Amino acid sequence: MKTNVLIAGGGIIGSAVAWALTARGVSNVVVVDLDLTGLYASSELNAGGARATWWQPVNVETCAATLEFFREHADSFSFRERGYLWLHGDSALFELAKKKRELQNDFGLGVEVLSPSDVVERFPALDPDPARLVGATFSPRDGLVNPNAVRQWYRREAESLGARFLNRHYVTGVSTARQPGSKRRVSWVEVTEIAGRDPTDQEGTIRDILTTHVVPPDRTKAQERIECDVVVNCLGAWSPVFSAKIGVSDVTEPTRRQICMVSVQHEDTQRVRELLSLGMVVDPSNLYFHPEGNDILAGYSIPEEAPGFDFNYDGEAFFMEQIWPRLAQCSSIFERCKHMRGWSGLYAVTPDRSGIAGPIDGFTNLFEAHSFTGRGVMQSYGIAMALAEWIDLGSPSRAIAALTRNRFSDPNKWLVEDLHI
Ligand SMILES: Cc1cc2nc3c(=O)[nH]c(=O)nc-3n(C[C@H](O)[C@H](O)[C@H](O)COP(=O)(O)OP(=O)(O)OC[C@H]3O[C@@H](n4cnc5c(N)ncnc54)[C@H](O)[C@@H]3O)c2cc1C
Repeated sequence: MKTNVLIAGGGIIGSAVAWALTARGVSNVVVVDLDLTGLYASSELNAGGARATWWQPVNVETCAATLEFFREHADSFSFRERGYLWLHGDSALFELAKKKRELQNDFGLGVEVLSPSDVVERFPALDPDPARLVGATFSPRDGLVNPNAVRQWYRREAESLGARFLNRHYVTGVSTARQPGSKRRVSWVEVTEIAGRDPTDQEGTIRDILTTHVVPPDRTKAQERIECDVVVNCLGAWSPVFSAKIGVSDVTEPTRRQICMVSVQHEDTQRVRELLSLGMVVDPSNLYFHPEGNDILAGYSIPEEAPGFDFNYDGEAFFMEQIWPRLAQCSSIFERCKHMRGWSGLYAVTPDRSGIAGPIDGFTNLFEAHSFTGRGVMQSYGIAMALAEWIDLGSPSRAIAALTRNRFSDPNKWLVEDLHI
């Protein structure tokens, strides 16, 4: 098989990039994924929060563009513009958050600053101890979205424009070659290994991607060699595995994040109704929650947890030790609630908590878009549009050049996001 653009990874980012490329008229786009139902994809396991209220211009810009896109398709994506209420307990961080309002409001986000007493007056479902709060921000244009609907939309539209999605195709190999003109050398691969790049090969060109898949009915393994002009690494938290095998050292760490679904059982139905009409609420402890139908979706990341590919959900213990006490600090409604179920997924975390996108130095035809920490859904459209333009025209119009991996060699170029949950 021969392709113009091969996208490794069909999560929300790979699907969005496939759509953005085909929408520009790029033909012969192929997406390969080991499981397109999303068993290993963060895109199926996230919280559906969507905000543009970040601290770095590139993140604000790309998320604002994505939210605008969600608004245009609000019915298809169940986009609810209910805002983010961010409760602050740390004065220094609150001062910084207030300063960042200028940047955010330049993008029309209308972020307000609230005092602790404003919070309880305006959101009567909440009654946090005022001594825990120094203030809050409320960003009315942020909201909640159905991430699976968004991912499906990108894929459906991409397929309708000719992109092909190959399911159960595990990327097991890459062959690279020297630049045309120089002495060409192909380092072809072992089946189970992605070939290391020849260290003498200064400007590598990826020639082929080798995938392995299982063929029914007898489940024999087959390999497919896919020739490609351009390759895009959209492997999410798995991206460092690919990068390492082609000699690119990656800073991304896969880190487990757990989410609980909680049923509210309080008899004060008026306050419960008010609670269920909120958008995203972030507590000073870094717990976040939002209504999901008649229930509450709540998440919290244990700061001391070591990185790793861990999909175990700690269940009742996680709810009892980490979630319930923090929920109860936000609202007395949570004195009576019940843990229903939950799950865990992977954040792809970078040292500055911003994603990685753009071409990779040392290769003529290798791009990447991954490691969007807790931001991949809300950044998907903005990143995909800019990256597709970069691939197609050679440069992006949006400021995503700041997101290339090169920034990690100079801490002054890091795009630090401190309000990160
Ligand atoms: C608990 C949790 C809550 C979150 N909350 C939010 C939120 O509220 N808002 C938000 O915007 N973001 C949130 N995120 C982050 C968001 O889900 C991710 O940033 C986003 O889904 C990343 O998408 P992706 O396409 O880069 O990666 P993924 O969705 O992980 O896709 C990567 C794909 O690569 C495939 N793959 C891996 N290795 C191979 C291989 N060798 N060969 C072939 N295929 C391979 C996988 O099967 C997978 O489908 C959350 C994440 C988690 C875990």
